[in-house]
Amino acid sequence: MKHPKRRKLKTLALLLCVVTFTTFLFSYTLRQPSSYFFKYAFRLAGSFKGPCACQQCMTEADDDPWFTERFNQSVHPLMTRENSALSDETYKWWQWLQSEKRPANFSEVVEELFRIIPDDALYADAGPERCRTCAVVGNSGNLKGSQYGGLIDSSHFIIRMNQAPTAGFEEDVGARTTHHLMYPESARDLDNATSLVLIPFKTLDLQWIISALTTGKIKHTYVPVMSRIEANKNKVLIYNPTFFKYVYDSWLEGHGRYPSTGFLSLLFAIHICDQVSVFGFGADQNGNWHHYWEENLLGGAFRYTGVHDGDFESNVTHFLADKHKIRMFNGR
Ligand code: C5P
Repeated sequence: MKHPKRRKLKTLALLLCVVTFTTFLFSYTLRQPSSYFFKYAFRLAGSFKGPCACQQCMTEADDDPWFTERFNQSVHPLMTRENSALSDETYKWWQWLQSEKRPANFSEVVEELFRIIPDDALYADAGPERCRTCAVVGNSGNLKGSQYGGLIDSSHFIIRMNQAPTAGFEEDVGARTTHHLMYPESARDLDNATSLVLIPFKTLDLQWIISALTTGKIKHTYVPVMSRIEANKNKVLIYNPTFFKYVYDSWLEGHGRYPSTGFLSLLFAIHICDQVSVFGFGADQNGNWHHYWEENLLGGAFRYTGVHDGDFESNVTHFLADKHKIRMFNGR
């Protein structure tokens, strides 16, 4: 027979454990209402369906005010005929970025463009059944020697930008690309499976993509550009100028002249993906800002373009990581 005093002691100890554990949990949740712990635990147990099928989703019911103040799901990152009309304010701002003396008629150019490329409303399929993971791969030298290739390639969408070579760098940057963001002056050829996402800075850029996919007659914007481009016409997408301005206003609060390609790519991913991992942003371990395919001769690359506010962009990006909206991989 067990000693009653011992049993009492055991019960007391158990009670103490339960009280301590519950107190800890409550204090944790109160401090951090969007606490991972409960979300993960409930989702893992399958008793609570989230807004997406991943364990952590881009939008959560209890999102914090900093994120909800900035994130506006109703602005679509990609242009279709239907959402292509620009408000006067947006058109003015957009044309001011790289001003043209005599811009062509915007809606006529858009009309011509969508006769060549598809006019589909893509990726507006967020819901409890979808778990789309995305890797946004910037061009930072901090990718060198990182061995992130496998991790990057394991995402559903792999988003790269500008030159971003992969051949010869697969171990560090991966080999797959589903979306490649570029503008005429940073253009490169793509394979048939990759979506070219054009970031237009002016009406001429829309005329350029029409030309580059057909006649090749535009050879010059403010610098010489590729007159023809190898890319799958049926996969060409256009970054919406309205979304461009939204990124600048809401996320950068007007800092810099306009957002960097990397920041535009990040917001593109935040709007079309459920989980976002970010690679190749920021300086390398020695504080240099070169590209991963270059020797660090100038050290400058992205940092000193003069048109972006790199510090502000970096702060917002780190904030997103702190709030568990993205996962940052800082390289070696
Ligand atoms: O230099 P480039 O504009 O092609 O790089 C693409 C993006 O990668 C940049 O817009 C920036 O966001 C990111 N980048 C970076 N640090 C570097 C180089 C690029 O954060 N050293």
